[in-house]
Amino acid sequence: MKARLDHIGIAVEDLDAALAFYRDALGLEIEAPEEVESQRVRAHFIPVGEPKLELLEATAPDSPIARYIEKRGPGIHHITLRVDDLDATLHRLKEQGVRLIDEVPRPGAEHSMIAFVHPAGTHGVLVELKQSLPQPEAESRSRSWLPARHQLGGLELITLTDGWLRLDGGAMFGVVPRPLWEQRIPPDDRNRITLAMRPLVVRGEQTLIIDAGCGDKMDAKSAEIYALDRRYHLDHALADAGLTAADIDIVLASHLHFDHAGGFTAMSDGGTVVPRFPNARYVVHRGEWHDATHPHARNRASYLQENFVALQSAGVLDLVDDGTEVMPGVTIRRSGGHTQHHQVVMIESQGETAVFAADMIPTSAHAPDAWIMGYDLYPMETLAFKRTFTREAIERDYLLFFEHDPLMAAGRLRDYAGKRVVEPVF
Ligand SMILES: [Zn+2]
Ligand SMILES: [Zn+2]
Repeated sequence: MKARLDHIGIAVEDLDAALAFYRDALGLEIEAPEEVESQRVRAHFIPVGEPKLELLEATAPDSPIARYIEKRGPGIHHITLRVDDLDATLHRLKEQGVRLIDEVPRPGAEHSMIAFVHPAGTHGVLVELKQSLPQPEAESRSRSWLPARHQLGGLELITLTDGWLRLDGGAMFGVVPRPLWEQRIPPDDRNRITLAMRPLVVRGEQTLIIDAGCGDKMDAKSAEIYALDRRYHLDHALADAGLTAADIDIVLASHLHFDHAGGFTAMSDGGTVVPRFPNARYVVHRGEWHDATHPHARNRASYLQENFVALQSAGVLDLVDDGTEVMPGVTIRRSGGHTQHHQVVMIESQGETAVFAADMIPTSAHAPDAWIMGYDLYPMETLAFKRTFTREAIERDYLLFFEHDPLMAAGRLRDYAGKRVVEPVF
């Protein structure tokens, strides 16, 4: 096993006094502080070579740091060793009879999972073990709109982008207060947050695309309201993936809201609305089709008829029911909640599973069960579905696609000590 010194933690009673020494007298740079909720501390890291010093400030009277200072006064609190596989390390220590404070890892500072080993087993030093969670490289993160490919058993998955729009941050997070959600996705001066539109191509027996973004038919007024940004859109993405609209055999709808189905049709040169994918059958859930073509006051702004009615008149529409296998390995599964018949898409091959979560978990910030969109027509149904689904996703290690996440196309859900985290994949 290899381990590297990551940092030395120093319990601090008076932060200003500590800064007067480390920052002002020594002239060291202090990184932006970070709250570690699980430990009720604020961590101030100080780079000193590759390892760092970490000034630890208690944020609650019951914080382990507060208790430590009460007992022993300020001073060196722990050393942290970085390991590659925290689970395996803990397992090994347990086998050797080493006393552990944490038998399972929990979230730590700097995007990591951590576990403490009891000083009784380490000759008097509190040892923190740390495993950094994978973060997409800065480069791929800043260019996360470019197509990314993933081989899932015998199926190839290609995530695409049809530009970005902005929606009201409050509406995107329902009852979650702004001070919480704005840390995850910061709003603009009109309280809007930027969301991507990310259709997914599945290549197997045929070539299928799930959803198609908002397309190019939006009028100027709406485009301004939603700050629609299509400098990079589905045609660019298809081309970058080596595909054209003519290569698509099946277009599958999660539901028919404009930011998912707008790209199903396009304006022809003659000014009529025509199917956007010339060789494709379009697969839509029967109930969703009914609701979309019979809108009411609450959903009318989302169901724009020009996005889909032309499919029926062109004779390319297939209406299906819950649980239909649309192509070998690709099955729709009703989540409801967001709309009555909203579907997630289960993609399975050779024992591996990916799920296109659509508006059930629109961004990685919506991973906690109660982070549910205000747009949802039946939020309690979303909650019920999420509770079952997220547990299943964690247990079975599903690869989840986040259709609206501005930065992360896909990741895996993890639950550590009651906290829901998303491990980015790409
Ligand atoms: Zn929707
Ligand atoms: Zn949406």
